[in-house]
Amino acid sequence: MKQLQSQIRSMDHKGYPAYKSLKGKYRFASYELWIDHVQGDPFASPSSLHVSISGKTAGIPAECYMEKHRRIALEDFLLRGFAKGVEKISFQAKGSGKSGLITASRPGQEILERSACQVGSENGTVLFRFSVGFPARGRSIDAHELEKILFVLLPPVVEKAGLYQNLNQKALQQSMELADDQKAIREQLAEKGLVAFVANGSVLPRESGISERPMKNAVVFQSPESLEIVLQLPHRGACAGMGIPKGITLIVGGGYHGKSTLLKTLEKSVYPHIAGDGREYIATEETGMKIRAEDGRSVYKEDISLFIRNLPNGKDTSCFSTLDASGSTSQAANTIEAVEAGSRLLLIDEDTSATNFMIRDELMELVIAAQQEPIVPFIKRVRQLYEEKGVSTILVAGSCGAFFHVADTVIQMDRYLPKEITQEAKKTAGAFPLKMELETGKLEFEEDREVFLLRSDDRNKIKVTGTDGFLINKKSVDLRYLEQITDGEQMLAIAKALEYLRKKYGGKTIAMEKLLDSVMNLLEKHGICALSEGSVVPNMAMPRRLEIAGCLNRFIGR
Ligand code: ADP
Ligand code: MG
Repeated sequence: MKQLQSQIRSMDHKGYPAYKSLKGKYRFASYELWIDHVQGDPFASPSSLHVSISGKTAGIPAECYMEKHRRIALEDFLLRGFAKGVEKISFQAKGSGKSGLITASRPGQEILERSACQVGSENGTVLFRFSVGFPARGRSIDAHELEKILFVLLPPVVEKAGLYQNLNQKALQQSMELADDQKAIREQLAEKGLVAFVANGSVLPRESGISERPMKNAVVFQSPESLEIVLQLPHRGACAGMGIPKGITLIVGGGYHGKSTLLKTLEKSVYPHIAGDGREYIATEETGMKIRAEDGRSVYKEDISLFIRNLPNGKDTSCFSTLDASGSTSQAANTIEAVEAGSRLLLIDEDTSATNFMIRDELMELVIAAQQEPIVPFIKRVRQLYEEKGVSTILVAGSCGAFFHVADTVIQMDRYLPKEITQEAKKTAGAFPLKMELETGKLEFEEDREVFLLRSDDRNKIKVTGTDGFLINKKSVDLRYLEQITDGEQMLAIAKALEYLRKKYGGKTIAMEKLLDSVMNLLEKHGICALSEGSVVPNMAMPRRLEIAGCLNRFIGR
């Protein structure tokens, strides 16, 4: 620390690149400060730093980090505190360009493992990563301002956010208890044969299209009696709510009654949410995948023959490639790819589906003979997907009654409240028999698909564009329709996962499943930081296998 101080002082007024020599590790009173990368000039991306507090100094009880679900909640808790503290000291030191800008990751509503804060599972070491715009006057070093940042502004922020004695211990305890309860909900989903649970009292709608915070004065969720179940949670105790059983569930109701809001909630609840979010006691089967139409996406050697066959151009749909899929072919590919990557629950909203993929009505069947129609609509396969492969579906259908025939559970949204109408719907549907043959028997499609992955270049520049996708050496990978990607940090992790696989398997033909297993094993064993090479670990958040598969599927063959 003393050495760093005198080194900084000796640099005052020198040319900016002299800052480079500060790279290294320095011992402060209660932590180690690492300067991992120093920016080249005051206008470049800020410098990368991290601090590491030993477990003994941090003093966080081992019960908060020994189990994985608690550790992730702890890291999330610490990071939010740190980010808040950092925001307060940003730009208190001044200068040209990005001088004095201090930033740390600011997580959204989900609780995810993030590289920005890591707690050692064995020793309780606390690590925070952040960036600092090293101060300059014009283009020369402003030593006084950097000294102010590293010796005056930062230490209290680190100590407030990282030392147990300074934390809001009650709030931390509540976060730990919530993490236990959320884990218990997930475990009971499986035991009780459910694909989702929505607790009574939850708040589903969000503040606005651009804010994920809860809507104020929303109608709070209340389960219909017939679907209500009570889960026993270790801390909250009895927790009543709506259980959605496995199988085929239909969400119906008038326009604007809250159907899409319920589905969106289920899409997002594959991840746990923070206290106060309104969705903290909601959980969806963690492999739940939103399936939608995606005109224009590329598809590479995918067997979509379950849904599309006998194309007029004679193309083989059991090994189908295109750079510009139609609405129905893209939705077929999205469905097959999700099942292939291990999804046990498909989430579909008619608002974002290709109508001809979902259904074909009786009159159309009469006019256009089946032999002339390449599409086997989803309605004919939805039961088979469940019965043969155990893949459930939750489907929003406001306009098409035919799905009543294939549903196990029908939920009507009525002024934002759910009612179960399975019996009535089935009875009414009885008078309108479904005049089409549903597909039955074994589901046959190529499941051990092999793909060819292009070799990676030595130096690949990745630039993330939020939740839309990323550029890799200026080539764009469009993932905006993988709607469950949470934020840019998760997107970066997905891009890094792709790079990891290209380095390891590039230039080879290899089974998709093996690729996914390989990267998921790495993440499982070594955590999110394992995706980064080099001395600077960027801000990343833990992705799912399904989104990594989605990325690979849109990348290969181009
Ligand atoms: P649908 O898909 O049935 O047409 P949406 O789910 O899109 O309806 O909801 C319509 C509007 O109602 C949205 O703007 C949404 O924010 C709002 N909304 C949804 N659920 C609630 C609720 N529980 N309380 C208040 N407003 C809600
Ligand atoms: Mg809708």
